[in-house]
Amino acid sequence: MKNFRATRLAGMPTSIFSTMSKMAVDYKAVNLGQGFPDFDGPPWIMEKAFQAMEEGKNQYAPTVGIYSLKKNIAKTIKKYYDIDRDPDTEITITAGATEALYSTITAFINPGDEVILFEPYYDSHQADVILAGGIPRYVTLHKPDFTIDPDELRNAVSAKTKMIILNTPHNPTGKILSAGELQLIADIANEFDLLVLSDEVYEFMLFDGNKHNPIAKLPGMKDRTITISSTGKTFGMTGWKIGYAICSQELTESIRKVHQWTTYAVNTPGQHAMAYAFSMIDEYLPEFRSTYSRKRDLLYNALKDTDLKPHLPQGTYFLMIDLPDGRFKNDIEAASYLVKEHGVATIPPSVFYSESDEGKTMLRLCFAKKDETLKAGIEKLLGAL
Ligand code: PMP
Ligand code: GLN
Repeated sequence: MKNFRATRLAGMPTSIFSTMSKMAVDYKAVNLGQGFPDFDGPPWIMEKAFQAMEEGKNQYAPTVGIYSLKKNIAKTIKKYYDIDRDPDTEITITAGATEALYSTITAFINPGDEVILFEPYYDSHQADVILAGGIPRYVTLHKPDFTIDPDELRNAVSAKTKMIILNTPHNPTGKILSAGELQLIADIANEFDLLVLSDEVYEFMLFDGNKHNPIAKLPGMKDRTITISSTGKTFGMTGWKIGYAICSQELTESIRKVHQWTTYAVNTPGQHAMAYAFSMIDEYLPEFRSTYSRKRDLLYNALKDTDLKPHLPQGTYFLMIDLPDGRFKNDIEAASYLVKEHGVATIPPSVFYSESDEGKTMLRLCFAKKDETLKAGIEKLLGAL
């Protein structure tokens, strides 16, 4: 038989998250790799899903999402960021942020369009651009604080640039883009008339009193920004795959055109439960933040005086460590050694870089884990030194 695979898949790897989680199972390792909690989400959200099922809310939801969920998201962004969005025409419920990213990029990127990505990028951002036939242009977030060099960003813009993709709080580094960096991106988007796709799935996972600043709030940005988030992160239910895209009516209409042919609609009882979850977000967030803050401290403090130098994350449930100088050829070798010989799975971040070699010097750890999992993982990491 001939090779039937579409050329757009050429060179497309299996996601590192699946690869490392499979290795964690194969080597019976503690999994500090893929980003998901190894504990359940709140039982009061599950009860609302059971209730919705019992009430017969089991058929297709409207393709754009149920109204009560969209309304409660609109109320949340009004209350937390003072952003006004119409639930009917400016919010779309998707199968996780992953589908929102795919539908958005597919809706706007033509073959040959250039898209600016900050590296380390979230892997599906790059994959979606390539699937759409777009051309990624990379701007490195430089160590030690993962900062944007303004000249590098300006130089990445060309006559073909159509979109900038950002992610804050940032996976994998845990960095929150500074007010200055957000303004720089907004200035460039306004000057060159670009779309901005802002992946804010960790918007509520912040530490040390840090605040989230949506780029859509900056002058000139509301109509050119697509903001994407996920109840999987905010309410700790990654397996429910309920995300959303927020943007102007005009942009929403295009995203919905793709969404209707990808998933059509998202699971109905889950949406009802998440509508309730958003109505309780004020009560929910303090404990959510203190739980993750404590887990971050547990991991950071255990590593800070060792040869695995941790970078203190400002948000997200990820933490980057610097590998000891000269000990490993690169991050891939280190991650493979740790999972096979010491029973702890991590993520080698060089796969999130296309230009800089900085990723080869680090590993990403996820601390959305039970304390016992974290402690077991820490012991194994320290045992490898
Ligand atoms: N964007 C980022 C930056 C993520 O880290 C993730 C998942 N970990 C997603 C998008 C995908 O979110 P979802 O699980 O809702 O599809
Ligand atoms: N976003 C998660 C991570 O960064 C993984 C989600 C996935 O595997 N698609 O680990």
